[in-house]
Amino acid sequence: MRLEPLPPWLHEIWARLQAARAAERLVHGLLITGARGVGKRQLAAHFAHSLLCTARLADGFACGRCADCQLLAAGNHPDLIQIGPDPDSKSDTITIDTIRVFTGREALTPSRAAWKIALIDPADRLNTAAANALLKTLEEPAGRTILCLIGERSGQLPATIRSRCQQLKVPLPAEAEALAWLQRHSQQRDLALRLRLAHGAPLLALSGYDDALLAQRRDCLNGFLALAAGTRDPVREAAAWHTVGAAQLLDWLAGWLCDLLRLHVSVAPPRLNNPDRRDEFASLATRFNAADAHRFLQQIFTARQQLAANINPQLLLEALALDWARCNHAVRQRRN
Ligand SMILES: [Zn+2]
Repeated sequence: MRLEPLPPWLHEIWARLQAARAAERLVHGLLITGARGVGKRQLAAHFAHSLLCTARLADGFACGRCADCQLLAAGNHPDLIQIGPDPDSKSDTITIDTIRVFTGREALTPSRAAWKIALIDPADRLNTAAANALLKTLEEPAGRTILCLIGERSGQLPATIRSRCQQLKVPLPAEAEALAWLQRHSQQRDLALRLRLAHGAPLLALSGYDDALLAQRRDCLNGFLALAAGTRDPVREAAAWHTVGAAQLLDWLAGWLCDLLRLHVSVAPPRLNNPDRRDEFASLATRFNAADAHRFLQQIFTARQQLAANINPQLLLEALALDWARCNHAVRQRRN
């Protein structure tokens, strides 16, 4: 695979990695964490290419021309191993069988380059047995092997794994820097809004927030406001939400509730998740009950955990839509 240039907000972490390499302080276990869409995979891929390239540039990046770089570009360098959930399996976990295949003695010895690097992605999908198998390799690493674990939720990894890895937390760029980068890389409109909705993660704003998703968000948000006004049926609205996906809806709902609570305590909050709908939120914020909103927000957080535990997503969304309609109905009753 050919690599896009590393985005500017990753340059500082890159320099740290290269300094560790120059000082021969590279550790055998690296854990790259950070928000979705911030560039963890790009960083890991550049790092892997840099380790395997035989003519790397002064700033540590791979040359893109040597025989090893050509193998990397073709996706078949024997010293770069990609480990993830089995695409043919129903389970989306990384199993012990997958880990065993590469922890065999020969598999850990570089074939042609100075290093062997395994990218384990997403690392939070390692099941318990796989994590234990990996632990052995982290405890007794082979000479020039680096295991690079990549994940959004490092907290889900066993502490034994985390403690044996050097953690690199990829930070979100400042909003102005992210926006400037987006403007250089995208012709889309509403980049500032897309970036806000992507929680400040530029790569997610660039490739995750396309026009279709923005339109879905507009419709779901209209439904959310209509539920509050008592002009829409909650079960039908929940069915519409379900077509977008429960995880996405829970993310939006949390953002909407946070904006309502911000506008409830201040007419000019410094930051809103949904600045384009400020007036409608401000109007609703004057009407609802803050205790209800806090309780509803808590319910959204609980729903996230339930979703991770495989609860039926449609029922979950129905319960939320009904509850949101109910607490707004109660507010209207009290006012009349
Ligand atoms: Zn090269």
